[in-house]
Parts: sequence; structure tokens; C-alpha cells
Amino acid sequence: MNGIPLTARESRPDGTVVSVAGAQFGGKRLGVIAGPCAVEDEQQLVETAKMVKAAGAVLLRGGAYKPRTSPYQFQGLKEDGLKLLALAKAETGLGIVTEVMDARHLEKIAEVADMFQVGSRNMQNFTLLDEVGRLSKPVLLKRGMMATLEEYLMAAERVAAGGNREIILCERGIRTFEVATRNTLDLNAVAFLKRRTHLPVIVDPSHGTGHWWMVPHMSRGAVAVGADGLIVEVHYRPETALCDGFQSLNPATFERLMRECRAVAEAVGREM
Ligand code: PEP
Ligand code: MN
Repeated sequence: MNGIPLTARESRPDGTVVSVAGAQFGGKRLGVIAGPCAVEDEQQLVETAKMVKAAGAVLLRGGAYKPRTSPYQFQGLKEDGLKLLALAKAETGLGIVTEVMDARHLEKIAEVADMFQVGSRNMQNFTLLDEVGRLSKPVLLKRGMMATLEEYLMAAERVAAGGNREIILCERGIRTFEVATRNTLDLNAVAFLKRRTHLPVIVDPSHGTGHWWMVPHMSRGAVAVGADGLIVEVHYRPETALCDGFQSLNPATFERLMRECRAVAEAVGREM
């Protein structure tokens, strides 16, 4: 690298707008990604997708390959999950964001995903970053739970250096001494990253708090602080979820979140 990093704000002072399946991130309008933590079955995914779309979400999230802490927990439906994502896309028209944990799955996932998600646990999986950097599909790069902002920026720079500049950053909470919440949502990161890089920055208040009832509060905060969007876990029946139900919103709460965030967006000169 000679001179200015590819992801530095100086290299594109006006900011980057990343387009994903017709949705934009980084412009005046905020983009909201919503859906279940994990793809579970056709009814769960399609019902949830229809509801989040009706409330104003622009992309559907849902993990087919899940990085679970215990090997005995539900690990995701894998290829069957990808098929259900394709079905939900056909039924709703929503673009798909789903996690890639392993470069060996990239080709299969690319057939259905409009954006690859690189999860917190893989933010410094350098071989995976190099692989998604070589492709020409947008990447949602989540912040490592123990990563400093400089390390995070270098992970994004690695993807960009491979040739792929379609990167969206996502603050999803970091580990601190506090255990009352699953993570400590670092809204400092939004203001800091927006100044240091031209890439869009979104916020995940679901993993950032680990409590469904906190998600609307922190979503409003994220919009106020200048985030370019949100990624929110929504399940048509959170109490039955196989993964992260405790931090998932039901459709009515998500609909209210969208209404409240729209008002905050307007107050800070944005649209939602
Ligand atoms: C997710 O969004 O499904 C997820 C596993 O999040 P994170 O990588 O931030 O823990
Ligand atoms: Mn989750």
C-alpha cells in the first residue's frame, strides 16, 4: 500500500453507497436488514420475511451456517437452509444476507446470497477475508467481539485490497466486564468509523444487547448517532426460536421500532 488506505475517508470524502439487491446503504436513506437468527423451516422463514418486508425492511437475514458456541446446539440447516432462503427471496423479492463461515461454502452461498456476512468470530479469519475480497459480491463485515477499531479497519482494508470495495461495516457489541447485557454495544464506534472510513456503518442491536426489549432503545440511539442502517433479529414466534429467541423481536415490536426509528431519522436529516 502506498499512501492513503483504500478504506480511508480521504480516499472517498463523499462516502460510499453500497447497493445490495436494489437496497442502498450509505446514502441519505437508512437500510434495515431483518429476519431470524437462523433459518429453521419454510413457514418460519417465509412468514417472518413477509412481515419484516411489510414493516419496511429492505433485506432478509437468516443464518444457514451458524457459528454456535456449543457443538451440541442447533448448527443451522446448511444447504437446506440456503434452499429456504432462495424460496423466501422468490416469495418476497427481498435480497438475502447470510453468513459464510468457511471459504469452501462460498460458491454454494453465492448462488442465493446478495451479500455475504462475515461474522464477529471470523473478523480476523484472514484467509476468508482474502477469499471474499476476490469476489464481486457485497460483504457485511461484523466487528470482532474483541477487536479494536484499528484492527476492524484493517480487516476491511484486507477485503478492499483483494479488489472488493463493496463492504458494509457492522458494530455488534464488544466484550467488556459487563455481563448484564450479552455485549456492550459500542455506539462510539459508529461516530469513529464514519469519520475514519467512507464505508457505510450499520448497527446490530440484537447481538449488541442480548435482550429483545432493549433492541428498540438501542436502534433509536444508533439512528441518532449516524448509523447508515440496522440489522435486527426478528422471528414470527420468538418463544419457539431455535437460536437467539431471547433477543429476537416479534413482528409487532419490529413494526413499532421501524416507526420510532423513522421519526429519529427525520430528526437527524435522514430518511428511513
Ligand atoms: C449473526 O448475526 O447471526 C451472528 C452470529 O452475529 P455475530 O457474528 O455478530 O455474533
Ligand atoms: Mn443471532
